[in-house]
Amino acid sequence: MLDFIYDILPSRVIFGAGSLDRLPEEIERLGAKRALVLSTPEQREQGADLANRLGARAAGVFDRAVMHVPTEIAQAARDEAARVGADCCVSIGGGSTTDLAKAVALVSKLPILAVPTTYAGSEMTPIWGLTEGGVKKTGRDPRVLPKTVIYDPTLTVSIPPQFSATSAFNAIAHCVEALYAKEANPIISMIAEEGIRAFARSLPYVIKDPTHLDARSDVLCGACLGGISLGAVGMALHHKLCHTLVGTFNLPHAETHTVVLPHAVAYNAPAAPEAMGRIARGLAAPSAARGLYDLAASLGAPLSLEALGLKASDLERAADLAVRNPYYNPRPVTREGVLALLDDAFAGRPPR
Ligand code: NAD
Repeated sequence: MLDFIYDILPSRVIFGAGSLDRLPEEIERLGAKRALVLSTPEQREQGADLANRLGARAAGVFDRAVMHVPTEIAQAARDEAARVGADCCVSIGGGSTTDLAKAVALVSKLPILAVPTTYAGSEMTPIWGLTEGGVKKTGRDPRVLPKTVIYDPTLTVSIPPQFSATSAFNAIAHCVEALYAKEANPIISMIAEEGIRAFARSLPYVIKDPTHLDARSDVLCGACLGGISLGAVGMALHHKLCHTLVGTFNLPHAETHTVVLPHAVAYNAPAAPEAMGRIARGLAAPSAARGLYDLAASLGAPLSLEALGLKASDLERAADLAVRNPYYNPRPVTREGVLALLDDAFAGRPPR
């Protein structure tokens, strides 16, 4: 019999090619008069374009977002928001830029309007992250959930093919782990399975032709579903492993998700048969783990941790760190199990 609790998060989603044109009316709807626009240095021009579109409602552009939100950058953005008297943050970019807006909102309570341009999904979650002295802390706080999200697939045609694939795998990982989460529920499971289906169906077209707007749109919708899944329930072994590998061994974020996911799924398969069925159905593949590995391979995505710069001598330490603090996982996490998983991921072998 069904028995579950699901806190549905309040946010407004505007989705569609050209929907960025609605930015001024959406800012007005939020009641904001002095928006601070945030971007990375690489997306400075897009940040400036947003400020232009906002006209008198723009208070300035802060273009120093970088991966994992170092506390110094977070403080600089908060100071800039205070200096210009901002009453709202508008972020344009990937997870790094959205997370910078969240770092501002966490202390100032300013509302966020997010314009995502990758598939990371942060815009749909109340999760923040901050890095101090090389150590990343994350937490959940309803204050950081963006009030409005504008998904415009035309902004994603510039994502290079390799990053399209790995960023998508980051989102697929949110869907996958939501399916066997401790707080899993049938509503999120439907959303997560549909997210996987959208990626499996449309990613090949995106990789073949990055300007394919129908496929870009489908994949961006999958990213939204991945974000909803991540925001609603807790994650497990896969996310823990990636957090360790990225944080301690300085591996690239989206690529690490891509390489580890098939192996984490293979590890959890015996303990989560229903989730595996949904993943396989979403992928239209006979097996969840193998289906993910084959999808990554077919997209030309990286398959081995060695190719990402990990050393064979790091594997033991990574396994130690991954089992140091207990956390929920459908299958008990053992050091030798994790070491075998990491060894497969290191070599880029198909999952067991
Ligand atoms: P990113 O935001 O760091 O972007 C990577 C690079 O790609 C940047 O230089 C960016 O400017 C550029 N870029 C972004 N969109 C582009 C586009 N359309 N065309 C060309 N270049 C583009 O990368 P990411 O993978 O989106 O985000 C990763 C970060 O997000 C990590 O720190 C991760 O922990 C975090 N994250 C947070 C959550 C959350 O819920 N808080 C969820 C997922 C990821």
